[in-house]
Amino acid sequence: MIYDIAIIGRGPAGISAALYAARGNRNCVIIAKDGGALEKAGAIENYYGLPTPLSGPELAEIGRRQALALRVEMIDAEVTGLDWAEHGFNLQCGADELQARCVIMASGAPLRRPKIDGLIELENRGVSYCAVCDGFFHRGKAVAVLGEGEYALHEAQVLLPIAEKVYLLGNGAEPPQLQHDKVERISEAVVQLLGEERLQAVRLADGREIELSGLFVASGVAGAADLARKAGAMLDADGRLVLDADGMTSEPGLFAAGDCCGGMRQVSLAVADGARAGMAALRYLREK
Ligand SMILES: Cc1cc2nc3c(=O)[nH]c(=O)nc-3n(C[C@H](O)[C@H](O)[C@H](O)COP(=O)(O)OP(=O)(O)OC[C@H]3O[C@@H](n4cnc5c(N)ncnc54)[C@H](O)[C@@H]3O)c2cc1C
Repeated sequence: MIYDIAIIGRGPAGISAALYAARGNRNCVIIAKDGGALEKAGAIENYYGLPTPLSGPELAEIGRRQALALRVEMIDAEVTGLDWAEHGFNLQCGADELQARCVIMASGAPLRRPKIDGLIELENRGVSYCAVCDGFFHRGKAVAVLGEGEYALHEAQVLLPIAEKVYLLGNGAEPPQLQHDKVERISEAVVQLLGEERLQAVRLADGREIELSGLFVASGVAGAADLARKAGAMLDADGRLVLDADGMTSEPGLFAAGDCCGGMRQVSLAVADGARAGMAALRYLREK
């Protein structure tokens, strides 16, 4: 089955987009890993229609119930990959794959980079955030994936056929499980990246140094920019999504809404973004 609209995220932006998509009579699915930023928010009192404040989780639950009432399908999963396809897009959710004609990324604020000496200086000089995009530059060489979750596992699987050796660096946590003779799992913290012009090695907390051609940062969950890049959409020089007035990326049919677009992080703005992207996705499908 091919969904008309797949929405990544069930925060205010994703739910708002789904309300428009569903009322436009399109089959729509929301894929979300958790409740997003509202799960951490205490009292929300600056959003329209709340004479008495609601807690973040209460507001999130109301939104979720509203989407379910409009028969929006919801899947609890993490999206780890996004590819362009003839019909639109393929979304990887762990071992499963979903197909959709268009996608709205409403995945919340992007994760911060891990604080490791030398990381920022060596970005694009051996340090990458996308195995599909940059893995090929390291064919036949040793690479590492830095991260502990599903996304790190996905990036490692992309690199396995390309690289000679794949280190899984948990950076103080257990790295994901992956059985393969090319793989070495290391949980020791990474304290420094070494290299002048390009990345040459990582130094671990126990003093060990591991020579590397590439380091793929995949800690936490894939953000909208990571996913957009995999699907071929353009980012600006600072790695942010390039969007038109409707929230569409340079890849036709791929939209973004809410905190993942940058700017002020507020429920009201995320809801407005979601509505705009939902309506734009309907228009896109109609015109197609
Ligand atoms: C502590 C705190 C207090 C706040 N207080 C206020 C306030 O008082 N007023 C106000 O207006 N705003 C407040 N905010 C901000 C507000 O919560 C956010 O602006 C809003 O939730 C953004 O909505 P969103 O839909 O863009 O992202 P989010 O609500 O963060 O939702 C992101 C969704 O994407 C999902 N997701 C992300 N990556 C993936 C992936 N790879 N695969 C699957 N799912 C994924 C997440 O699981 C989640 O469902 C607060 C935020 C915090 C953290």
